[in-house]
Amino acid sequence: MKIAILPGDGIGTEIVAEAVKVLKVLDLPFEMETAPVGGAAYEAAGHPLPESTLALAKAADAVLFGAVGDWKYDTLERRLRPEQAILGLRKELGLFANFRPAICYPELTHASSLKPELVAGLDILIIRELTGDIYFGQPRGRRTAVDGHFPGAEEAFDTMRYSRPEIERIAHVAFQAARKRHKKVTSVDKANVLETFQFWKDVVTEVHAQYPDVELEHMYVDNAAMQLVKAPKKFDVVVTGNMFGDILSDEAAMLTGSIGMLPSASLNAANQGLYEPSHGSAPDIAGKGIANPLATILSAAMMLKFSLNQPEAAARIEAAVQSVLSQGLRTADIYSEGTRKVSTREMGDAVVAAVTGNSVAGATMTKTIKG
Ligand code: NAD
Repeated sequence: MKIAILPGDGIGTEIVAEAVKVLKVLDLPFEMETAPVGGAAYEAAGHPLPESTLALAKAADAVLFGAVGDWKYDTLERRLRPEQAILGLRKELGLFANFRPAICYPELTHASSLKPELVAGLDILIIRELTGDIYFGQPRGRRTAVDGHFPGAEEAFDTMRYSRPEIERIAHVAFQAARKRHKKVTSVDKANVLETFQFWKDVVTEVHAQYPDVELEHMYVDNAAMQLVKAPKKFDVVVTGNMFGDILSDEAAMLTGSIGMLPSASLNAANQGLYEPSHGSAPDIAGKGIANPLATILSAAMMLKFSLNQPEAAARIEAAVQSVLSQGLRTADIYSEGTRKVSTREMGDAVVAAVTGNSVAGATMTKTIKG
């Protein structure tokens, strides 16, 4: 088995180093190879997704990705910006299904912006279609309006579209995921206004006929946005299009306290996947050694489960994360009084220790960050 390690920019390099440390102590037969991506690749090779990095990602069974981006690249032409590397990888690897679990660990309920009783025990899975919808639909562009409210004025336009196979395959992914969980799928659409999402709703309903053991509900996206903050525990699996999924998965992220805790997986039809934390490269804290590595470490666990067929190793990592939280160790983003603030590296070391059964507990950690 081969894993492509693409740390990227900003905190990407810091958090991926911790996840690699955890993967190494599992003593499993896989090979890891590192390549630059994003701004780092632009600096090294003049392109955010060089041919060699893409070839490595394609040849690997899975990709562990950190994050890309920095404000200093904002003035580059679009095709050279670091974020283009993610879009390129999604497209080239055909990663159409994005899994974003939102789990609220009991120790972190206070870190959520919602009341603890609303989020305690929260465990939902948002499945976002990743390669279609208005983000990729053609035509798009700027032109002079020939009709509408202001004929003759400059206007911009995008195209929202979904084909039957695109909807069918993401619906199957959602129903199959629900079978391994609490057997409920909420399909989020805007069928009351958009033709594309009336079609989405119809096709999801048709696919559902093959999954009579799974409950299906349909919900408009505006209501889903409300229900996610009103009664999030009512959801099990949420499936939706690219744009609605983009927004709702970030909303769900906040229910859990910190985006630094949230892993994600993007899979293609062959279960080859790209695994990355849900957050970006956080240039505001890069280089300070304070980023939370747990989202990346949990992404590595998802990778072991979904692409590398190592569910026991994945469970060991998940239990280790639970254990370090129970020990009271916290990076700055999830810190609260009475817990112990640790650095990125110390958090990684603690997970390694928990995975190998040598729990360090707070007391043996030598260096902690003050404040
Ligand atoms: P961001 O997710 O990088 O940061 C948002 C906030 O969350 C910041 O305050 C940051 O310090 C904090 N944060 C993020 N991850 C954290 C962690 N692990 N531990 C502690 N705190 C953490 O989003 P942004 O600031 O909007 O974007 C920064 C750059 O990242 C931009 O260039 C953007 O394009 C890029 N980006 C990349 C990805 C990706 O690589 N998949 C995703 C989103 C944004």
